[in-house]
Amino acid sequence: ASGYTLLRDPKHNKGLAFNEQERDSHYLRGLLPPSFLSQELQEKKVMHNLRQYKVPLQRYVAMMDLQERNERLFYKLLIDNVEELLPVVYTPTVGEACQKYGSIFRRPQGLYISLKEKGRISEVLKNWPERNIQVIVVTDGERILGLGDLGCQGMGIPVGKLSLYTALGGLRPSACLPITIDVGTNNEQLLNDEFYIGLKQKRATGQEYAELLEEFMSAVKQNYGEKVLIQFEDFANHNAFELLTKYSSSHLVFNDDIQGTASVVLSGIIAALKLVGGSLADQTFLFLGAGEAGTGIAELIALEMSKQTESPIEETRKKVWLVDSKGLIVSSRKESLQHFKKPWAHEHEPVKGLLDAVKAIKPTMLIGTSGTGKTFTKEVVEAMSSFNEKPVIFALSNPTSQSECTAEEAYTWSEGRAIFASGSPFDPVEYDGKVFTPGQGNNAYIFPGLGLGLIMSGAIRVREEMLLAASEALAEQVTQENFDNGLIYPPFANIRKISAHIAAKVAAKAYELGLASRLPQPEDLVSYAESCMYSPVYRCYR
Ligand code: NAP
Ligand code: MN
Repeated sequence: ASGYTLLRDPKHNKGLAFNEQERDSHYLRGLLPPSFLSQELQEKKVMHNLRQYKVPLQRYVAMMDLQERNERLFYKLLIDNVEELLPVVYTPTVGEACQKYGSIFRRPQGLYISLKEKGRISEVLKNWPERNIQVIVVTDGERILGLGDLGCQGMGIPVGKLSLYTALGGLRPSACLPITIDVGTNNEQLLNDEFYIGLKQKRATGQEYAELLEEFMSAVKQNYGEKVLIQFEDFANHNAFELLTKYSSSHLVFNDDIQGTASVVLSGIIAALKLVGGSLADQTFLFLGAGEAGTGIAELIALEMSKQTESPIEETRKKVWLVDSKGLIVSSRKESLQHFKKPWAHEHEPVKGLLDAVKAIKPTMLIGTSGTGKTFTKEVVEAMSSFNEKPVIFALSNPTSQSECTAEEAYTWSEGRAIFASGSPFDPVEYDGKVFTPGQGNNAYIFPGLGLGLIMSGAIRVREEMLLAASEALAEQVTQENFDNGLIYPPFANIRKISAHIAAKVAAKAYELGLASRLPQPEDLVSYAESCMYSPVYRCYR
């Protein structure tokens, strides 16, 4: 290949880091200015340039450009500066990027499968340049973060998630495949936008939708085998639960909005117990929002409680209450409830608003998964603080604008007593002369390590016990020093080490359950996980 082509191949390009011998042997003479920059120096330079941009979206575009120009440098930056760059390549900035995807769209980054490709999905998969795929993140764009239906522009999400799979979980970039399934959009604004990149039609539903998904799922298995992990991402809840149930017995599938969220929040709860005291079974939970996130978390809490107390899950579910847009979910509403809400319809008189529900249920832990901002009002937080010494408050809705309350509000309204975590990052808050660092219940703590654990053990199915194992592994990574600062999640700076621990626990569970196909089982799973991880350091070309 010519040197010119080499410089335009993001997988191999090193820019000014090509040394003298490489410039000679790969026909690069004259195509580069004479100076040599090491990867470290390049990293320093690009970080400096990035920091010049004050608008988050500009940083996002600059990172995407880098990914298209020099893949290893992109991952080196992301790995070494994870706390700074995570909000750029993922939430909250990725949300804005999806909203404006049409105008920042330069080059396609993943695979688009629309209704037009019906009947030929298997061929479409063959157009992708890589054959050895280990993880697919797929969306249909109907519920992007808390932003709603963004149709085909949802592609930013699988692209972003997979870059985290590589940076945080160490999966090889070439083994990751982002896919957007386009069945139309119900977003009027997009339908009327002359620059919209997706199908300009209303969403297909029912049988038409199910058939396309079925074709997709079998084409994936046919092309990549049984051990490819398919992560469903940002599907609307009316499809998400069904797809997960339907395919979890035939494919290695995982829904991050339901299961990943559940696992990361449960981990935060397990850690918070160290600060609050008491056991999980001593707690009462109230959720605002009974969708994918809310009911997913609720179920995993009930499962863990049932494991710990050796009582049936039907009993432990009674410690968990949920409020949806119509009020507290109670048994008198049972007939009209969506199936995923039914397990949570307990005996109680009807209660309308959140504040009244808080007063009636007196939860020790309040969890926001409504996608609606500013719903944890001063009155709600004050009520929580009136009957809890240390009220645990999770405001999980994304992006920042949809957060149920801000970190500052939680600390101020609880007079510094709240144990707070959120979905989108908040800066530390000073209250009454003390600095409070809010935790971020970011799914990125769990899914990369979980994915690595599944893949390195050759797991063929995902089980809830694996999610519990991941939660426990993450909670174990919170140090005493973290607790002393009020933190219930470990710092992201250690994420690769954290992911290796999660991967090891998940893999161990896969072996225990007889679902692992990589035999024999490696002796030390943590070091095996570490040895599997992708390194972004440049290779030497001879
Ligand atoms: P979803 O399936 O659409 O569920 C939303 C739920 O909230 C529904 O039950 C809905 O009620 C309820 N709701 C909406 N507005 C409400 C209001 N004003 N009062 C009471 N209930 C209200 O969405 P999801 O997938 O669960 O996601 C919800 C939010 O969680 C999103 O913002 C997402 O970004 C966030 N999230 C965060 C994390 C994280 O931080 N790690 C992970 C996943 C999701 P009805 O059922 O009555 O319509
Ligand atoms: Mn999601």
